[in-house]
Amino acid sequence: MKLSSNENPHGASPAAVDAVRDAAAEISVYPKAAHTDLTAKLAEKWDLGTEQVWVSPGADGAIDYLSRAMLDPADPVLVPDPGFSYYGMSARYHHGDVRRYELSKADDFAMTADTVLDAYDGERIVFVTSPHNPTGATMARSEIESLLSGVDEGTLVVVDEAYGEFAEEPSAAALLDDYDNLAVLRTFSKAYGLAGLRIGYALVPEAWADAYAKVSTPFAASEAALRAAMAALDDEAHVEKSVESAAWAREHIHEQLEAPTFDSEANFVLCAVGDGAPSPRLPSRRA
Ligand SMILES: *Cc1c(COP(=O)(O)O)cnc(C)c1O
Repeated sequence: MKLSSNENPHGASPAAVDAVRDAAAEISVYPKAAHTDLTAKLAEKWDLGTEQVWVSPGADGAIDYLSRAMLDPADPVLVPDPGFSYYGMSARYHHGDVRRYELSKADDFAMTADTVLDAYDGERIVFVTSPHNPTGATMARSEIESLLSGVDEGTLVVVDEAYGEFAEEPSAAALLDDYDNLAVLRTFSKAYGLAGLRIGYALVPEAWADAYAKVSTPFAASEAALRAAMAALDDEAHVEKSVESAAWAREHIHEQLEAPTFDSEANFVLCAVGDGAPSPRLPSRRA
């Protein structure tokens, strides 16, 4: 496990591992039924129509699908800085133009509608990460609503909730009933511990029903990944355990680390280590 990839230290649910083993017998067949089944299960979980669930190879895959659906050459996208690098990479692969809004250490990397709107200039896609990577901060749902109301009609706001399970803040997915310029990203890579299988999804407005077939690859996810995701969804105890130990570990780090830390609702904590040189002011913990 690589600490900086924010993978699940508990691994995957044993039920998901079993599902992968069982799926081994069927890998000669294209994953059609399993794709339909997972889509239906997710639609039920989020109380949305099945056409609003875009299953993808990881949330990264969903970012690509949205880029493909939205971007014409030279269309601008607005991404957070510091932030998750794949938003910009995906935009560039699709010939988009990347602009940034800054999150400021001076106000603890706070994310409000104004943080984004101050930099916003009619970009085609605006990315928000909540909880944010790498700060762990969330954007309150009321602020997301202000942002959705504050952007132009042709702008899609993408709220990336890769760490949503770890957060107290409720998902922005509930806003899909009221806004048609919102997409929400979720993944099985973090709380569900399935990073190696590459499975995630986007939740999109109803009006987008047709776009998925145009922008996705014909079989977006593998049989093993689809089956494992379904088993993982059913093992709520495993997710709860993962969420609880992340909450415990965040507190432990806030209390024990001899460096300033920032509040986090994710499964990691950002700390300020200055330039990384040993500080004479800090006693060595090993002494
Ligand atoms: C890990 C991560 C993702 C992507 O996860 P996938 O493994 O592609 O599902 C997306 N956004 C953020 C902010 C992440 O940290």
